[in-house]
Amino acid sequence: MSKRIVIVGGGPAGTQLARALDDVADVTLIEPRSHFVHAPAMIRTLVTPELLERALIPYGAYLKRGRHLRGKAVAVDEGGVTLDDGSRVEGDVIVIATGSENATPFKPKGADIEAFRAEVARVHGMLEAARSVAIVGAGAVGTELAGEIAHFMPEKAVTLISDQPSLFPDKPARFGRALAKKLQAAGVKLVFGARAENLESLSEPYAGRLRLTNGEEIEADLIFPTIGSRAVTDLLDALPGVEKVSANRVKVDPWLRPSSLPNVFAVGDIADTGDGMSIISLSRQVPWLAKTLKAVLKGRAVESLKPYAKWKNAPILVPLGPEKGNTFLGGLTLGDWATSRMKGRGLFLARRRKELAAD
Ligand SMILES: Cc1cc2nc3c(=O)[nH]c(=O)nc-3n(C[C@H](O)[C@H](O)[C@H](O)COP(=O)(O)OP(=O)(O)OC[C@H]3O[C@@H](n4cnc5c(N)ncnc54)[C@H](O)[C@@H]3O)c2cc1C
Repeated sequence: MSKRIVIVGGGPAGTQLARALDDVADVTLIEPRSHFVHAPAMIRTLVTPELLERALIPYGAYLKRGRHLRGKAVAVDEGGVTLDDGSRVEGDVIVIATGSENATPFKPKGADIEAFRAEVARVHGMLEAARSVAIVGAGAVGTELAGEIAHFMPEKAVTLISDQPSLFPDKPARFGRALAKKLQAAGVKLVFGARAENLESLSEPYAGRLRLTNGEEIEADLIFPTIGSRAVTDLLDALPGVEKVSANRVKVDPWLRPSSLPNVFAVGDIADTGDGMSIISLSRQVPWLAKTLKAVLKGRAVESLKPYAKWKNAPILVPLGPEKGNTFLGGLTLGDWATSRMKGRGLFLARRRKELAAD
């Protein structure tokens, strides 16, 4: 009889892992949402809301042997997972991939996809009506948002505010400089080295006046807080030895185990692997975990296997609308053509829909 693997969370981490293990184990994936939310397309849905219907991907028959179970996990133990309807899914190995939340409307809060559709429509309406937009936080989401608005709604006055000295300071300076130049050419005002002292919400867009630490005041019809994701880790709270670190992620041992339970693993945004919270990092984490779990299923001791090593200098693709942007890949900074072909035009949507057997 195949060993049973229970995966909690049907985001990119959970679904990719489920597919990778489908032919070697009895896989059950637990996910409460009716649709997969394709985050890389969510920024553009704000400026072109008709994209939302393709970016919310109904889960198709993406597993050949395994099952996709609609439900919310409320407790985890060494023997399996308990769902909110009281039922149990027993497992030999349990993987937690409950991911993260972000500001409205970049990711849903909770499982209600209808409520999320309404949020995207509401904020799109606010954006259409706004003449001035301030974006607080210039990570990938803030930078892309500035670029998308500048491309699709060039009449808006957009200000992007960062407390860092430049864009993407952890990458070679050339990368951030190239993006900054393109944003400025598109009319975006960039403010570096300043924090918003009076941000009213960390998760909801609103109209108001920002007071910056450099003394500047910025009045905007719409202020987007884009200050990063926060991991959804409540399911792990009751497990022995769990420790939270920055962004509410959980500390993991070298084999991505978040507690003293030897058969419970964590992957994706939830796990403090040393990687950033990105889908790109899953292209390293998921194959590693799939290989590790295959060996574990064959009886190998976890500690005898090669530990996970974080991705140093991981790539990042930052489109500014469908045609422009920059990519950091293999130590190189690539420009508009490569960024547009690799991400800007299609936003990886066709590939993800195919993987989930939605088309
Ligand atoms: C706007 C935006 C754009 C982004 N664009 C990119 C990009 O272009 N490239 C890139 O590399 N990264 C991008 N990211 C980051 C990327 O989205 C995340 O790193 C990725 O989604 C993490 O995947 P995950 O599976 O760990 O978590 P998530 O995608 O958050 O998925 C977690 C899943 O777990 C489910 N879940 C939660 N709690 C429970 C529970 N109790 N029981 C069962 N299921 C549960 C949730 O419903 C959800 O489906 C972007 C993020 C944002 C916010």
